[in-house]
Amino acid sequence: MKLRAVIFDLDNTLYDYDAAHATAFRALCAFAGKTLDLPEAEFRTVYREVMDEQISRAGGQYAAIHNRMIRFQMILERLKKPVLYAPDMSDVYWDAFLNACQPVPGVRETLESLRGAYIIGIGTNMTADYQFRKLQTLGLLDLIDFLVSSEEVGVEKPERKLFEVCAEKAGCPAGECLFVGDSLTHDVRGALDAGMSAVWLSTKSAPDGVERIADISALPDFLRRKEGGTP
Ligand SMILES: [Mg+2]
Repeated sequence: MKLRAVIFDLDNTLYDYDAAHATAFRALCAFAGKTLDLPEAEFRTVYREVMDEQISRAGGQYAAIHNRMIRFQMILERLKKPVLYAPDMSDVYWDAFLNACQPVPGVRETLESLRGAYIIGIGTNMTADYQFRKLQTLGLLDLIDFLVSSEEVGVEKPERKLFEVCAEKAGCPAGECLFVGDSLTHDVRGALDAGMSAVWLSTKSAPDGVERIADISALPDFLRRKEGGTP
């Protein structure tokens, strides 16, 4: 099978989102303690409650549910604290997050080895601004041909439309695209349902019918095997 495009999820695929978020959240808790006089446990509880409220208020799975400025504004409103702290909280969170953002080992080399043979894209559930900042911080922006965010298309993975726009930007049918991601539901099932090939990035064993690689450096070999030769 000839593939023409390789499209990557971003968070927890090209870098460790969980680690960067944990670091950023610690910085946020320190800010909340110092400036809002809020114990960490209380802040964590309010944060969780507001995340749920943010989703239900948006009325569905849209990119806005990831917007931290809205989340911080809602936290301050719920706590009856001045909303003027929302931009400060956003700066504290994102400065710490981007500082902690590290590409997974071998990601740049992998993308460099695919470039030329494949169109390279990103398909991600999030607002565009910070996905660009992350890719810039990771030093990967120059290797990307296109990006599709859920903010741009108005729906989130695993909705078909996001994958269709990826194929449209790649300039080839969905059947000539491979989607690579850490989420079985959002990335793999979504891509397969949209007619793409997909590979799950995971160290766990894959369910029937799902192809898997344990780390991103295994992708060039995976592609050679899949295409039955050297691309
Ligand atoms: Mg992900």
